[in-house]
Amino acid sequence: MNGKKIYVTSPSLPDLDEFIPYLREIWESKWLTNNGGFHQRFENLLAEYLGVPYVSLFTNGMMALQIGMQALRITGEVITTPFTFAATTHAIHWNSCKPVFCDIEPETCTMDPDKVEALITPQTTALMPVHVYGNPCHHEKLQKIAVTYGLKLFYDAAHAFGVKQDGISICGRGDLAMLSFHATKVFNTFEGGALVTRDPAMKKRIDFLKNFGFADEVTVVAPGSNGKMDEFRAALGILNLRKVEEGIARREAVAGRYREALQGVPGITVPQDIAGVRHNYAYFPVRIHAGEYGMTRDELYEKLKKDGIMSRRYFYPLCSSFPTYRGLPSARPENLPVANEVAGEILCLPIYADLTEEEQEKVIDGIVEQ
Ligand SMILES: *Cc1c(COP(=O)(O)O)cnc(C)c1O
Repeated sequence: MNGKKIYVTSPSLPDLDEFIPYLREIWESKWLTNNGGFHQRFENLLAEYLGVPYVSLFTNGMMALQIGMQALRITGEVITTPFTFAATTHAIHWNSCKPVFCDIEPETCTMDPDKVEALITPQTTALMPVHVYGNPCHHEKLQKIAVTYGLKLFYDAAHAFGVKQDGISICGRGDLAMLSFHATKVFNTFEGGALVTRDPAMKKRIDFLKNFGFADEVTVVAPGSNGKMDEFRAALGILNLRKVEEGIARREAVAGRYREALQGVPGITVPQDIAGVRHNYAYFPVRIHAGEYGMTRDELYEKLKKDGIMSRRYFYPLCSSFPTYRGLPSARPENLPVANEVAGEILCLPIYADLTEEEQEKVIDGIVEQ
């Protein structure tokens, strides 16, 4: 191996010189957290950028998920996808609810809406699907099921920042949607997250819950937690928001080059754009069909690693195979055939705004030259 490692992602940052005046302002004001000036500005700018009515900022995405479930008063069983980051399932567990895993459909890797109804029981209160890789879930079908059965629809939109369908952000869908601004995401505030809602009363309730349940100095309306975003992250968010569109355009160019170089390689399936969707190119997940390609996904993963290319097997293992959840009836592999198949074949290639053509060539060579 020569040269530096190529990671699956690399965070976008503004010039440090742009951040320093903001830090000075925070120092001088001594207002470090609890809905300060940067927090208020960032919340408004985000709502405007996403074209959604209300945003509540959080210290990370996980807290937004946990508090969102409290705000919606979700109890009992929650139908969700096993093909996601651990946080989605863990948030259900931390709310003392039971995750019920629904299989995914193979094109978008999102929850298969045609398999949801069979999983509904009298204990079911909510659906928690994930716009995995930024692929929009089948919203109309899920919404229809939610309305018919009186269920809450809470989207994990951690991958969906900047994704639009028919010109509209998919982050405004459902009763609530959660965003993550973790360093590894398309848009970051170091750590951070948000909840998106169309309901002003819900926004208010969320804001109480993320501040220990305080409605005012002496009124505690609920057993809240601490999910607040501080001024430093909000200031970074304001700066990074200015660069996010340019970042997505650069990712799109990287995705285009991968597609061109890899789509003819036998045994490799590359992701395709969905008609009517403006993607954010947060991930570039390819599927490796060992028979045709001549190497398993894990063999390719190890080979790339030896060359200093740190691809990732998102989302392997499935959440349904974690020790905490694997005993659940819905977690049995025979109930999740598509998710298990995809989890065994998927490999996410390095993609980020600053990935150079030279670095990308190295990744492509590593896959093409076996
Ligand atoms: C990153 C991520 C989260 C958690 O967000 P954090 O900000 O890291 O807490 C939740 N769900 C999915 C699908 C994610 O990828």
